Amino acid sequence: MPTVNAYAAPKAKLPLTPHKIERRHPGPHDVVINIHYCGICHSDIHSARDEWGKGHFPMVPGHEIAGVVSQVGNAVTKYKIGDTVGVGCFVDACRICAPCKDGTEQYCESGMNLTYNSTEKDGKTPTQGGYSTQIVVDENFVLRIPASISLEHAAPLLCAGVTTYSPLKHWDVKPGDTVGVIGLGGLGHMAVKIAAAMGANVIVFSTSDSKKADALKFGAKEFVNTKPSDAIKSHANTCDLIINTVSEHIDLAALTTLLKLNGTMVLVGLPENAISNIDVRPLIFKRRGVAGSVIGGIKETQEMLDFCAKHKITPEIELIAATQINEAYERTIKSNVRYRFVIDIKTMA
Ligand code: NAP
Ligand code: ZN
Ligand code: ZN
Repeated sequence: MPTVNAYAAPKAKLPLTPHKIERRHPGPHDVVINIHYCGICHSDIHSARDEWGKGHFPMVPGHEIAGVVSQVGNAVTKYKIGDTVGVGCFVDACRICAPCKDGTEQYCESGMNLTYNSTEKDGKTPTQGGYSTQIVVDENFVLRIPASISLEHAAPLLCAGVTTYSPLKHWDVKPGDTVGVIGLGGLGHMAVKIAAAMGANVIVFSTSDSKKADALKFGAKEFVNTKPSDAIKSHANTCDLIINTVSEHIDLAALTTLLKLNGTMVLVGLPENAISNIDVRPLIFKRRGVAGSVIGGIKETQEMLDFCAKHKITPEIELIAATQINEAYERTIKSNVRYRFVIDIKTMA
């Protein structure tokens, strides 16, 4: 099997170092992709530090993959050599359960085959992600990157883009709705841009006052620094929908009071520990809901890419070399990323 260069966490919490992995020879439906760029999602950091448990090490993270097709299996019909393509958070699923048939493979009843820290369909070969020079993926789990989006800007859309697009669509955001976005990081800044393009009035709730000008530039109508004690109270009952992207423990009870009657807070941030302080009163007396959402299916991811191309939406990125990955992790944890680190994979060659 071909061996390719990668960066891996040898064990939980250890710095990532250069590593070699094997990629399979392409089967009839496989597409071989030369990876050009890979985004750094906060989920990569949670995984590499094994904050969610059950990590497979050595682990090559990365599920915001953008590259160019270099080879195709003999039965591939969707892609040809030279196409610009992407791979997101999963590389396969059972394909027969109701969610898979419905195009919501992220809710596959057997569990999707994640791009890394998971297994291939054989149930035993570990999957390894996009911090590597090449990946081999079944054509049905590959996305087409629109020509107007550069590959480095396309990469973060494959997770941060679709993770925020999916709940905005599912909860049917319409022009004039007020959408709150909590946390202005990789996911948060995409939520602002996409919700604004859908016609929503966006309010950003952030702990970093220094991000105010950016939030307004990305399309938010208002920026609220949540640190002062009265900040939440003074914005009670303002949001129809909230996308909560915070990667750490949050005061859920207080934040739900930001919702209007019948409003919903969608949790997409996935902190290490459970959030247990739910006070039911603010929910009951305003019929407010708290929900969760995970990434998006293949069909919806393609729809999101096309939506971003149509509305000229791209992420704000900071391009780094592979040797800067560990530093980028530290800066992301400190909320000091503007707004997505993207690895230039040619620095791994
Ligand atoms: P990120 O770039 O690090 O952004 C998270 C933001 O949360 C920070 O920029 C910061 O925004 C805010 N924040 C961080 N620590 C905080 C704290 N202690 N209190 C309050 N706010 C805090 O991370 P990301 O890549 O956007 O990912 C966010 C979370 O979503 C992670 O937990 C990730 O694993 C998860 N995720 C989930 C899915 C899904 O499908 N559900 C997909 C991808 C990622 P401010 O500076 O503005 O406060
Ligand atoms: Zn992600
Ligand atoms: Zn399935």
